[in-house]
Amino acid sequence: MAQYQSFIGLEVHIHLLTKTKVFCGCPSSFGDEPNTHVCPVCMGYPGVLPSLNIEAMRMGCTVARALNCTIPERTWFERKQYFYPDMTKNYQISQFASPLGQQGWVDLEGKNGSQAIKKRVRIKECHLEEDAGKMIHTGTVSLLDYNRAGVSLLEIVTEPDMETGEEAELFIRQLRRTVRYLGVCDGNMEEGSLRADANVSINLPGKGLGKKVEIKNLNSSRFVRLGLNYEINRQGEFLDAGRAVVQETRLWNENRDQTEPMRQKENAQDYRYFPEPDLPVFTPEAAFLKRVEESLIELPQARIKRFEKEYGLNEEHAELISDEKALADYFEEAVSAAAALGLVKEDGANRIANWLLSDIRHILAREGTAVSAIGALKLLPKHLAMIVAFTVQGKLSGKNAKQTLEAVVESGRDPELIITEKGWEQLTDPAKIAEAVKSVYASEGAVFAEARAAGDNLKRRHTLTAFLVGKVLAVTGGRADPKIAGAQVEELILERSEA
Ligand code: ADP
Ligand code: ZN
Ligand code: MG
Repeated sequence: MAQYQSFIGLEVHIHLLTKTKVFCGCPSSFGDEPNTHVCPVCMGYPGVLPSLNIEAMRMGCTVARALNCTIPERTWFERKQYFYPDMTKNYQISQFASPLGQQGWVDLEGKNGSQAIKKRVRIKECHLEEDAGKMIHTGTVSLLDYNRAGVSLLEIVTEPDMETGEEAELFIRQLRRTVRYLGVCDGNMEEGSLRADANVSINLPGKGLGKKVEIKNLNSSRFVRLGLNYEINRQGEFLDAGRAVVQETRLWNENRDQTEPMRQKENAQDYRYFPEPDLPVFTPEAAFLKRVEESLIELPQARIKRFEKEYGLNEEHAELISDEKALADYFEEAVSAAAALGLVKEDGANRIANWLLSDIRHILAREGTAVSAIGALKLLPKHLAMIVAFTVQGKLSGKNAKQTLEAVVESGRDPELIITEKGWEQLTDPAKIAEAVKSVYASEGAVFAEARAAGDNLKRRHTLTAFLVGKVLAVTGGRADPKIAGAQVEELILERSEA
């Protein structure tokens, strides 16, 4: 295939988590009995007036600012005319000439598969609109559920700055993380709370944009990547064969792993936009803008960087810990509790990250608790900090630390009490450990002899030593300090071989 340049622009729709719809008081909850959240306003009865849900505007502007967009001094709504049964009004209230967010950018940064990505993607605009209803086609009938009609929707449109499916997938992942951090969208792509349409064209290098194909029906970030890479390849084969790419809308078929034609779109559809006469122009006041800026908490990309710098986490761990705000908050709380217990900051942080990404992640999965609900665990951040501190101080063995963790998850009780009660405190008294070693020598004399005979075969000797130390630990109920036990076992092996 010849070398082509590719251009990808995304249009992402996110459902804002407002309690009510964007222009009326109907609840915006999902999964309820069809057509129970409807009223004359969202159904477009004659003589009714829409009124703007200011929370939707605040959330929309917060996302816009998080994407470095400018909020204009005046923003307003237009009617986008189209006839389709999913919208009883025959138009959708949307934004066109002066959307709430304009000309921003995001920096893509991170790994996707084998690709290391670092690129700035310009954001063309963000606009607020109402969602349409849902059509359910069954056999020869089509059913309509208008519960979704009028729900707050924010559309984010990028410039065609991306070049690979991997970059587009990373864009979606970063955006999803950001809107979840901001608490304005749950980011659930399967349920359609975050939906992406992908536009892609290719051309000979230096020739600028090509004929654009739009891919719809991409309900996971993986499909965004697969669909785009498939399409880049398909278009390349077309151009190689001397054929022209047809401007059209295609659908991703997830069963066949390919895009398929949906409709051709020769010239832009005329929606006959005109300003919505029933809604006033919105001129954000200082108090409103202040609330928007206050909603701009530290964003995930910044947090990842800070975790690397401040706590010495590696890039992968920093990203995994920052993926969910609740997890990152939990982590920081545990780290500061550990520091208060005298742990070196970076050491404590890395140990806590390891616990969170292994044992605690398994516990959450086992209990069916989402990572975002980690705050509901009976194991509080300060409990984790204590367990880590006891391990560092030699009060808990690795095995007993795990047992203690489980016991706290179960009961929410103070780890120190549990350790005392269960007698899990690590045994460090050399005389006590020596007793245990002696008893193991009595029962496993043959293994000691074999270890001794192994002589310079270090690998064999280590295997046998580890086995013997395991026995010592078992005899002490897992309490013996493995370092001291190991030294004593080795000594005994050597001593007898010298004798
Ligand atoms: P339309 O009017 O067809 O909706 P827009 O100009 O609004 O087109 O752009 C929609 C999306 O398509 C944007 O994300 C934009 O970056 C992208 N896009 C526009 N033209 C091209 C092109 N030739 N190749 C790739 N992407 C494009
Ligand atoms: Zn309504
Ligand atoms: Mg468009």
